Amino acid sequence: MAFDFEKILIEKHTIEKRVAELGKKISSDYADEELMAICILKGSILFFADLIRCLSIPVKIDFIKASSYGTRTSTSGKVKVDDLLSEKIKGRSVILVEDIVDSGFTIKRILDFFMEQGASDVRVCTLLDKPDRRVADVDPDYSGFTIPDEFVVGYGMDFDQRYRNLPYIAVLKETEK
Ligand code: 5GP
Ligand code: MG
Ligand code: MG
Repeated sequence: MAFDFEKILIEKHTIEKRVAELGKKISSDYADEELMAICILKGSILFFADLIRCLSIPVKIDFIKASSYGTRTSTSGKVKVDDLLSEKIKGRSVILVEDIVDSGFTIKRILDFFMEQGASDVRVCTLLDKPDRRVADVDPDYSGFTIPDEFVVGYGMDFDQRYRNLPYIAVLKETEK
């Protein structure tokens, strides 16, 4: 069965190039600190795996799962954080790796969680940013691409748990939703 996309928004090679740039920038910004990178499941898995391979500094990794209650293509603002962490957070420099910051409720909730756990510094690295949709008061420290208000899939991101495996980012046709 073929996928029915409206269009490909970001090609594989464009993602690769930008992720390498982000890795270089983060490596230079954290040259003097021990970094802890947090993968926010599930959407960030591909971005996270590629990004950490582009870091030239020592890094520890850990995982957290966030789920929000809402409609199928937007969030309600109620975010549940499942703590899967095995590493201590207190006093650490943490970078939260997210697939997309939309309303911002999810990342704000996770940022607050890490601050409550006593992290010394928490920054956000998102692959995609949809600033037009922002409600929560949060601004990513590192952002791969700013995109318009369109629902995207691929490179970790899903619609009904499908399309996460695509190596590019696409916009679904209305009929596919
Ligand atoms: P928030 O509105 O809280 O910033 O976004 C929460 C989460 O909803 C994101 O981390 C992402 O997993 C998901 N999300 C937001 N926009 C999109 C989108 O365009 N496509 C997909 N697949 N997920 C999205
Ligand atoms: Mg996400
Ligand atoms: Mg999702």
